[in-house]
Amino acid sequence: MGKLDGRVVLVTGGARGQGEQEARLFAAEGARVVVADVLDERGQALADEIGALYTHLDVREEDSWRHALDTAQQAYGRVDGLVNNAGILRFNSLTDTPLDEFMEVVRVNQVGCFLGVRTVAPAMADGGTIVNTASYTGLAGMAAVGAYAATKHAIVGLTRVAALELAPRGIRVNAMCPGAIDTPMSNPAALDPAADAEETAKALDGLYRKLVPLGRIGRPEEVARLALFLTSDDSSYITGQPFVIDGGWLAGVSIT
Ligand code: NAD
Repeated sequence: MGKLDGRVVLVTGGARGQGEQEARLFAAEGARVVVADVLDERGQALADEIGALYTHLDVREEDSWRHALDTAQQAYGRVDGLVNNAGILRFNSLTDTPLDEFMEVVRVNQVGCFLGVRTVAPAMADGGTIVNTASYTGLAGMAAVGAYAATKHAIVGLTRVAALELAPRGIRVNAMCPGAIDTPMSNPAALDPAADAEETAKALDGLYRKLVPLGRIGRPEEVARLALFLTSDDSSYITGQPFVIDGGWLAGVSIT
């Protein structure tokens, strides 16, 4: 018996990173998974490997959401779960951030999450689940990622309101707030053939050893296990909450 037997779950940004691990774990737990991303080749290859369905989805676009939902419903007849995972990060101080860059981050992270809830929840089976991917920076500030942090705070707010509005149908909505997780987002050098990814990973390792009480970066598989908990009946009485998964980073500072 899998924890998600018979459930249909759509994972946005499911082609790589945390979304990929969520898709893998959900499929292993018996879900019929819809991997949705703009990375078509990678997303399709993953879907073929794990026996999932791939659909192109640009989370910024209403039409694209409608198409993804139609595809899922045509294939499986229903949708029980949504993981709003797609996201982008840009580094800049607030005073140096051009409006276009700010809006680019808002479109993907914040509008994408809103459109996901608005499109999928009405079609979702009663008792469904939505997991929104916020961040450590959805609950605390972090210099140099102002646009990103603003969208992640917004996702926590959206999660609380969606939880209240959807509770009468038994649909639970929660948010995950990961700290530093080892994916191409935190180490873009891993995707750049010209970069020394190992060297960058070593430098980041030193940084997280200092910053994070547990002394290491998180693994996308660990976030996937939290997403599974929030998507399965194991969390049946939990809704409207942000869940921090950060190795203790947000707990405070250590002076020793
Ligand atoms: P990632 O860059 O590996 O994955 C992001 C995925 O989102 C990619 O597959 C990408 O193609 C997809 N995506 C981007 N724009 C899209 C769009 N317009 N439409 C559809 N898909 C789109 O990074 P990740 O770390 O796996 O990020 C997953 C989520 O976790 C993001 O929301 C991110 O903000 C959040 N997060 C990451 C970290 C971290 O340290 N890696 C920490 C906290 C929160």
